[in-house]
Amino acid sequence: MAEAPASSRFDVVVCGGGPGGSTTATLLARAGFSVALFERERFPRFHIGESLLPWNVPLFRRLGVLEKLEATGPQVKYGARFYHQGTDHARLVRFADAFDGAPASAFQVKRAELDTLLLDHARASGVAVSEQARVEEVLFEGERAVGVRVKVEDDAPREVRAKAVVDATGRDALLSRRLGGRRKDPKLDRSAAFAHFSGFRRAEGPIGGDIIVVTTADGWWWLIPFSDGTVSVGVVMPSSRFANRPGTVEELFEARIAATPEVRDHLEGHSRLGEVRAIPDYSYRTPRTSGDGFCLVGDAACFLDPVFSSGVLLAMSSGEMAAEAIGRALSRRGRVDAADFRAMERRYQRAIGRFSSFVHGFYTPHVLETFYTDSPWPLVTGAVTTVLAGAVFRPSLKSRLGTAAFRFASLLIRAKQKAAGAGPFERATGLLE
Ligand SMILES: Cc1cc2nc3c(=O)[nH]c(=O)nc-3n(C[C@H](O)[C@H](O)[C@H](O)COP(=O)(O)OP(=O)(O)OC[C@H]3O[C@@H](n4cnc5c(N)ncnc54)[C@H](O)[C@@H]3O)c2cc1C
Repeated sequence: MAEAPASSRFDVVVCGGGPGGSTTATLLARAGFSVALFERERFPRFHIGESLLPWNVPLFRRLGVLEKLEATGPQVKYGARFYHQGTDHARLVRFADAFDGAPASAFQVKRAELDTLLLDHARASGVAVSEQARVEEVLFEGERAVGVRVKVEDDAPREVRAKAVVDATGRDALLSRRLGGRRKDPKLDRSAAFAHFSGFRRAEGPIGGDIIVVTTADGWWWLIPFSDGTVSVGVVMPSSRFANRPGTVEELFEARIAATPEVRDHLEGHSRLGEVRAIPDYSYRTPRTSGDGFCLVGDAACFLDPVFSSGVLLAMSSGEMAAEAIGRALSRRGRVDAADFRAMERRYQRAIGRFSSFVHGFYTPHVLETFYTDSPWPLVTGAVTTVLAGAVFRPSLKSRLGTAAFRFASLLIRAKQKAAGAGPFERATGLLE
């Protein structure tokens, strides 16, 4: 049964119990504030977003949940392996090569398990958690958020008042319409289809846990191994191709596996577990992410692209920043204003911008070729690995110089490609701009 909180007045109400919501709620409750969290589903529930980054590890520690997570035996990964379909292009990324003190490993997790762990941890930290509790509306007085109207199970909707409301409703983005709506980036117009499999051809030794990314002429695949031997497999493609498919999503997914030896061979002898799911047109940004008495965290604010596995890190990091901003304002004035979120918004937007330039680069042939080309400068390899480890909040000078050197190297490759016409990479892959 869902528990409805006894009180109808809290310091903070958090809408949504994914990683962004749980993080915000836990940190505020641990700081001594009264917090209610409303989650529409009953956990555990399936969610995509299973490959985490090294910089998630210190965040789990700060949340006080790292030991609990380690005790569940998650898959530990030390890097990522990239291959380009139909070519000998390969890049092995070792997180140990990253700058800025990144942890040398990260986790891969089934989100049903991780999200339940994080929500239970919020509960244990003092958050009044209600599941099967759908927030129907955020209540405003003038421009100020003052609470929510929530429907818990089959009960009649009721109002819960709060000094601050956090929208952590993920792709539902409860408050985004009020802030100008979700804006799409036409250059990142992609869709994904995915499923779990009973196993795959796993490499021997520690690299067996690495995420495998197979880039293709118009998209890419992920293979994310779990510690129980199963694997998450997904394909990303232009939304137009997805929308204009001749058959079902399942037929498209199976046909694509059959046509991609780098994926098909890994899965030989293993079967699909359950349905093929899909998320069309997944990229968007909300222009503003806060106001008087409220803010958006995680996917409710923005989702770029899954290629660098940054979603959970960004959701949890924005949740941590929101908790800091709200906690500071409530302690000082007992009220949270739009201005209290300004520093957080700037920091978050800068981090999104850093990921965004890499994500766009990934879909640009000469940048992708630069990524697959051995650089004579170790600074470049280290800087790219640093971004892939998730160090986008406070990159060091060394890391920023390395990123600039990567950009310079990609310009050289583009110039070379232009001078020679299509290079061997484009000829093999059809990846010409
Ligand atoms: C194809 C694809 C692959 C991805 N792969 C990765 C990956 O490998 N690694 C990674 O880090 N990220 C990945 N992501 C991104 C990741 O899924 C998200 O960034 C992450 O889950 C965001 O967390 P969140 O807490 O903001 O939102 P969510 O995890 O979506 O949580 C939001 C919660 O709010 C609840 N909710 C919604 N509306 C209401 C309401 N009205 N009232 C109450 N509750 C509500 C929902 O039930 C949900 O539980 C991927 C995304 C896509 C599309």
